[in-house]
Amino acid sequence: MAKKTYKRHTVTAALIYANGPIHIGHLAGCYLPSDIYVRYMRSMGEDIVFVSGTDEHGVPITLKARNEGTTPQAVVDKYYDIIKNSFAEFGISFDTYSRTSREIHHKTSQDFFLNLYEKGIFEEQTTEQYFDEKANQFLADRYIVGTCPTCGNENAYGDQCEKCGSTLSPQELGNPRSMLSGEKPVLKPTKNWYMPLDKLQPKIEKYVDSHPEWKTNVFGQCKSWLNQGLQPRSMTRDLDWGVKVPLPETEGKVLYVWFDAPIGYISATKELKPNDWEKYWKDEDTRLVHFIGKDNIVFHCIIFPSMLMEHGDFVVPDNVPANEFMNLEGQKISTSRNWAVWLHEYLEEFPGKQDVLRYVLCANAPETKDNDFTWKDFQTRNNSELVAIFGNFVNRAVVLTHKYYEGRVPQRGELFQFDEETLAKLAEFPAVIAGSIEQFKFREALASLMDLARLGNKYLADTEPWKLIKTDPERVKTIMNVALQIAATLQVVCEPFLPFTATKLGGMFNQSGVKWSDLGKGDLLPGGHQLEAPTLLFEKIEDDVVEAQIAKLEAIKKLNSPAEKAGEIKKAEKMEVPGLKEEIVYDDFTKLDMRVATVLECERVPKSDKLLKFLLDTGIDKRTILSGIAKHYQPEDLIGKQVVVLVNLAPRKMMGIESQGMILSAEDEEGNLRLLQANAVTNPGATIS
Ligand SMILES: [Zn+2]
Repeated sequence: MAKKTYKRHTVTAALIYANGPIHIGHLAGCYLPSDIYVRYMRSMGEDIVFVSGTDEHGVPITLKARNEGTTPQAVVDKYYDIIKNSFAEFGISFDTYSRTSREIHHKTSQDFFLNLYEKGIFEEQTTEQYFDEKANQFLADRYIVGTCPTCGNENAYGDQCEKCGSTLSPQELGNPRSMLSGEKPVLKPTKNWYMPLDKLQPKIEKYVDSHPEWKTNVFGQCKSWLNQGLQPRSMTRDLDWGVKVPLPETEGKVLYVWFDAPIGYISATKELKPNDWEKYWKDEDTRLVHFIGKDNIVFHCIIFPSMLMEHGDFVVPDNVPANEFMNLEGQKISTSRNWAVWLHEYLEEFPGKQDVLRYVLCANAPETKDNDFTWKDFQTRNNSELVAIFGNFVNRAVVLTHKYYEGRVPQRGELFQFDEETLAKLAEFPAVIAGSIEQFKFREALASLMDLARLGNKYLADTEPWKLIKTDPERVKTIMNVALQIAATLQVVCEPFLPFTATKLGGMFNQSGVKWSDLGKGDLLPGGHQLEAPTLLFEKIEDDVVEAQIAKLEAIKKLNSPAEKAGEIKKAEKMEVPGLKEEIVYDDFTKLDMRVATVLECERVPKSDKLLKFLLDTGIDKRTILSGIAKHYQPEDLIGKQVVVLVNLAPRKMMGIESQGMILSAEDEEGNLRLLQANAVTNPGATIS
């Protein structure tokens, strides 16, 4: 299929909740990839707008205000500034960074809502919802706590039990109580407006199916939602913080935060280009691309497109390149447990090293699966890649040019075959890197960029101008000229990834305004061009520096240990080490028939985000067992592995499938499940005793 060409591009990066500072997971998830993409597109001379902002509505904001004993407005004002500043410091080059509390956004979302309302899109539904009579308000799911029907946790939330991970609805909780007053809430009827996603399903399905080029994780998640069958979703909420519903007699109701938040992209564009914002949203020659994290896929691929389609005036997203999550030192990043590398702290502790973090997060980006940030890897990539390859090459080229020619680019003489080959390779790089960026493969693009620096390093190492200068100074002029063309190309192609470094290179090379689209047109640095003095690009990071960071995390780990006391919400999130069970005798133990089994097949159970379905060779038979570890393992990684199975457990039906036994796993205090294994491969059917 021929690729459609577009006249202009609208690129958005996720609207982040203004209820806390930002960390490396945010940067790696969507802000760094979107920034690389946009910087590249600008360098190609494309007409592009890059918008984002803070999401300042929704229950998390009101909860944060409650926890801090302040108002939602004070919370969002504080964090808007912190977040905006961190992005600016890291060179995330938004054309505008807006916020959803602005009047222009309230008006834009209300107009959008009214447009759909007047077209008769919404279905009005009256449902029973918990109401706090003392606080005189309806309770959002997160405002209700009670006993989890699955695990008995007494502090489960109305939407989820954080102890066992069950998805809940408030009516399922035993002994419900309001977090506002502590009182038992009562059920009361309330009217809300629903988007009939069930009826829109065929349209949405057609739209998703027309984009098989989407990343596998994105396309797969959409298909899984569609296969489950879409349900009507309420676009209004009973809450006092948000965009007011623009209908009569709707006091105390606001727009659902996922209705108004994506419209924030439109409001931000309006704010940026009050006179011609419409062509960035309504012209079919505009390509709309949303960069997000995986937790927002359904909102950007199903709900927002359905809103845009029903409205009718807008283009729909052409691509939604969502990333998976970045973990930290093997654990999920967690704001409440302070398990994160905070950007504002990094800036203080590693001044001037924004590009190092950008480099490491991109080299290790969670593009296809969750990935891990470790301080050791940070150090290694800095020392053995940025310093030893990139920095070393550029420094040699510039220093030698100053030493031999007072910083003037020497004229090129006769080219040897090795020079021709090197220049031919150099000419291929810009298109190769561009191809990867256009496919949202930023790790691959960055790896090619480093290969270009390697090409330069190898060229100098093989030609050894520092030796030849005594015997063949004419030859050295050609060598240095070729090396400088490689370095000058690096300046342009590294700019999307390492913008601060590109600026330094621009200073050294006395070269500015060169764009990607200029590459390959000839020599970037002509003979006779005067270079400036060399500056340091990267410096070695010593062991004690990363050891201090690791020690800081160790201290946080200690603070997070179950023995430490924490606030009510933190306590609910944490697992205590369970107490010792009642003593048993050996005969009790021998009743359990546990065996080693080999995984023959493993796949996700449709409509379940927890269950994996295994076909196991137990030595006795081949049988199907379901296990709730889908969040912790990729099915394809488990095929061929051995597990431990309780084979004489009575069969149990889950999701319509009979599970014939139980696979044993260990659960840590974060709720991570780890499969138990014999420590060497053994025959299936081997007994455990
Ligand atoms: Zn539970």
